[in-house]
Amino acid sequence: MIDFHLHPNHSIDSRCRLADMIESAAAQGLSAICPTTHIDLNPKRTALDRFIRVGGKLQYLHDDLIERYIAEIRGAAANYGCMRILLGFEFSYGRHFEELVKDFIDKFKPDFYLGAIHCLENIGITSKSEAAGYYRAATPERAVEDYFRAMSELVESGLFKTVAHFDGIKKYGYPFYGNSLTKLFEAKSEPVFAQMTSLDVGIEINTSALRRGFTEPYPSKRLLEMAKSCGVSVNSVGSDAHSAEEVGRDLETAYRLIDECGISVGKPLSDFL
Ligand SMILES: [Zn+2]
Ligand SMILES: [Zn+2]
Repeated sequence: MIDFHLHPNHSIDSRCRLADMIESAAAQGLSAICPTTHIDLNPKRTALDRFIRVGGKLQYLHDDLIERYIAEIRGAAANYGCMRILLGFEFSYGRHFEELVKDFIDKFKPDFYLGAIHCLENIGITSKSEAAGYYRAATPERAVEDYFRAMSELVESGLFKTVAHFDGIKKYGYPFYGNSLTKLFEAKSEPVFAQMTSLDVGIEINTSALRRGFTEPYPSKRLLEMAKSCGVSVNSVGSDAHSAEEVGRDLETAYRLIDECGISVGKPLSDFL
């Protein structure tokens, strides 16, 4: 099994050392892991997000720090011959800064990376401290509309092969809207799935939802079945761990869902089956 969605403490929202995550993954016998450190390049959120922790110190993101991060990941990979460690990132996406994301990818050439919708109207909808500010002001119809517009632009950008937590809107949206969110979301999903298939973009199965009171990962089984019928593949599985204890959590559920749905598997996951 692989876990291709991990946040060691290079990410602003994690305090877990890379070494501790690696030990946890190795103890579970994972065949490969990929730290996916948050990269948030939204110029309208510079003071909030644009940081990376290197050498234990949170610092404003710049190229030298990325190089140090890369050296750290590559160094760890060299020390763990039996378990592959890939260089990865999780990019927050917004159309108004997609050139910055493109330049970053071109410059640092990660082995694997995810594209994610973390903000709507530049408000962090996946942030505990910010999400209510968006959801309180938005109807569920508007929230789903805004989310899918952003998702469609992410897919259309051509920057990403894999979308992180496809229905991540439910993380903090569900407490506001309940089941109406699920219904509205499912009703709007198919056109985006079709767009993903035509542009060769797949999804990840992200098990962090199971640690947040949901009974299914992101995306739900119903959405996975819809994705399958539209021709979308699962390209990755990940725990979205922010601690050593969360590494590898519920991955067997993700793998079981892939089997149950009979959904196709794409790279890089297919390289590790
Ligand atoms: Zn994310
Ligand atoms: Zn993440």
